[in-house]
Amino acid sequence: MSANRDEILKELGLWPVWKLREPPAADALSGSTGAARSADALSGGAGASRALPKRPPVVADAASALPLDARAAEIARMDWPQLKASVAGCTACPLHKGRNKTVFGVGDEQAEWMFIGEGPGADEDAKGEPFVGQAGKLLDNMLAAIGLKRGKNVYIGNMVKCRPPGNRNPEPLEVSQCEPYLRRQIGLIGPKLIVALGKVAAVNLLKRDASVASLRGKVLEYQGTPLIVTYHPAYLLRSLPDKAKAWEDLCFAVETMNSLQNTKPAPI
Ligand code: SF4
Repeated sequence: MSANRDEILKELGLWPVWKLREPPAADALSGSTGAARSADALSGGAGASRALPKRPPVVADAASALPLDARAAEIARMDWPQLKASVAGCTACPLHKGRNKTVFGVGDEQAEWMFIGEGPGADEDAKGEPFVGQAGKLLDNMLAAIGLKRGKNVYIGNMVKCRPPGNRNPEPLEVSQCEPYLRRQIGLIGPKLIVALGKVAAVNLLKRDASVASLRGKVLEYQGTPLIVTYHPAYLLRSLPDKAKAWEDLCFAVETMNSLQNTKPAPI
């Protein structure tokens, strides 16, 4: 990278340098990388105290009761309306008990770019949209830095569609129950490139435990789709040195996209 640190930060919309206005919440100090955890901390824990609208009653989706293999096969045949309805009524894992809204994903349903994080936080749970709040603003700035915009040739989703309680990382069982939805979204979209945001997304998509540091800078793969790994925006909000690395990753993503064949896989 020829750009110096300040130029990188300006590119990412992070100049002057972000500073917390209030002390972070206790769980943020634990070093966790959870999106919501950080978003809560950065907003002064607003997610915990905000009055949320009354939860709408959940009409359980029939697929929720099926064994995982049968359920995955059923989901793999769904079209967009069926998939959205199934997620809205999903009770397949315990995360449904604490959610206010499912967070299906947002963006261009024929996008070449797909960004995947770990799960909804407080703001996302309230709005039903991924990556809102401070981490979402940073993601939007990261997209803008490489000429992209939310909703335009970009789709944004998460490993799980309901907020984990206490904003912990999703458990393996929760990820395995929710992954058929993500897999079907990827199949319907047919992105050219997936960008995994943070360790939780990376290790669950790649099915191997490794650090983000060891996975970045490589073209990996999720079910035949090229995948690269970078840091989660919520983590970047509290780790200044890694913002420059994230900028390198974005540049690498653009190079990778440019090097891919000029054909878009047909939706499955
Ligand atoms: Fe269903 Fe996924 Fe929500 Fe679990 S996290 S209840 S599998 S939509």
